[in-house]
Amino acid sequence: MEKAYVKVWESCLEIIRDNVSSQSFKTWFEPIKPVKLSNSVLTIQVPSQFFYEWLEEHYITLLKKTIKKELGTEGRLEYSIVMENSHNSSKPFTVKIPTNSKKELKNPSVSMPIDLNQNTIRNPFIIPGLKKVNVESQLNANYSFENFVEGDCNRLARSAGFAVANKPGGTAFNPLLIYGGVGLGKTHLAHAIGIQIKNEFPNKTVLYVSSEKFTQQYIDSVRNNNQNDFVHFYQMIDVLIIDDVQYFAGKEKTQDVFFHIFNHLHQTGKQIILTADKPPVELQGFEQRLLSRFKWGLAADLQTPGLETRIAILEKKLYTDGIDLPKEVIEYLAYSITTNVRELEGALISLLAQSSMNKKAITLELAKQMIDKFVKNTAREVSIDYIQKVVCDYFDLPIELLKSKTRKREVVQARQIAMYFAKSMTKSSLATIGLHCGGKDHATVLHACRTVNNLMDTDKRFKNTLMN
Ligand code: ADP
Ligand code: MG
Repeated sequence: MEKAYVKVWESCLEIIRDNVSSQSFKTWFEPIKPVKLSNSVLTIQVPSQFFYEWLEEHYITLLKKTIKKELGTEGRLEYSIVMENSHNSSKPFTVKIPTNSKKELKNPSVSMPIDLNQNTIRNPFIIPGLKKVNVESQLNANYSFENFVEGDCNRLARSAGFAVANKPGGTAFNPLLIYGGVGLGKTHLAHAIGIQIKNEFPNKTVLYVSSEKFTQQYIDSVRNNNQNDFVHFYQMIDVLIIDDVQYFAGKEKTQDVFFHIFNHLHQTGKQIILTADKPPVELQGFEQRLLSRFKWGLAADLQTPGLETRIAILEKKLYTDGIDLPKEVIEYLAYSITTNVRELEGALISLLAQSSMNKKAITLELAKQMIDKFVKNTAREVSIDYIQKVVCDYFDLPIELLKSKTRKREVVQARQIAMYFAKSMTKSSLATIGLHCGGKDHATVLHACRTVNNLMDTDKRFKNTLMN
């Protein structure tokens, strides 16, 4: 006797056959196996997650109508997905998609860390709010390829990014891992790829997320007992961009869940783009299996830009903002700030701010003054101890004496000078400085600062001594 579910599905197929092309029917419906019918719920088995998603995306209306027609208004459909099991490929693994009931969502068999094989997906008919179009890409329009200046320092990463953008999931660069030090353009480039993909393929779901945010969302999902939704959401993304993956270091469970999302996306031909502050071999605190995935595609680095590129970046920025600067100023900036692009931009912004606040034209002179300050400020924060040491070396005094309460004249002056420098060169409070200099109170420190200032005003030689 023919089983009821086989019969029902056969009738469904007849309706479907009349409504789709024969090619589609062959591809998407012939491989489906009916497996169960109970309480008006028909369970069908599909070969993969991808298959299920495709059905959901393209044939949901048809399926819905067909099921209602065959099983009445109560009729529902459940999918059972044959999972590719990487450990044991000879034996397909089946997961059941439970119904929408809250109880089943809190399926106790789904323990952490998430195992893909235990992962469950809710009935697609009743998944609310997971329509692909609803995913906000979180991309910053300013970080486009147009605004990203090409140079020797970024040529490989940039062109690999461009290739990926034009064929997401379709190049050997999957994942594309962009790495390099701070402020060298990793985030910018990652956004640029996403923006480009969005332009070329508006239907693709692109998502940019920082690794911290990913981690936080995951932690929240564990707390709220909806890890499945978390995983499912990420598995639906076509282009997943995760920034600064080095922050996954030491977070085993996050790595675990990411590992499974990664595998799923990779297997279904989705594009993964990652950034990190180091090359994969130098990343610490990572599970080996995840690190090995990072090396599957291409790891491309961003290096510190050379002088020409730094000039080009400044010019681009000025052009975009519609600002005119003397060439010599641009060159001076580019010449002086060598560390990274972020600091270069920071210096430019400070300069523009200075000139507009003081209503001064931007001259080479102003740039020089500003840069000197800028470089000094970012260079290092000197400590009180260091200042004391320098002062003591200069006056040839033992440091203990300066820290003591002695009122010997030569010590008092050295101490005052140390206080003065501590005040002007560190962010320490007067009280803290006093504490370090013979347990004096803040009034004493203030007095010391005034005295030194006065002396500098009146005594040129004293001033020169201090300034060197
Ligand atoms: P990272 O993520 O590597 O720390 P970002 O991508 O945040 O660095 O870049 C820092 C700043 O420098 C951003 O404002 C970015 O637009 C800019 N920038 C970096 N590289 C370039 C480049 N090649 N062309 C133009 N701007 C750049
Ligand atoms: Mg960044």
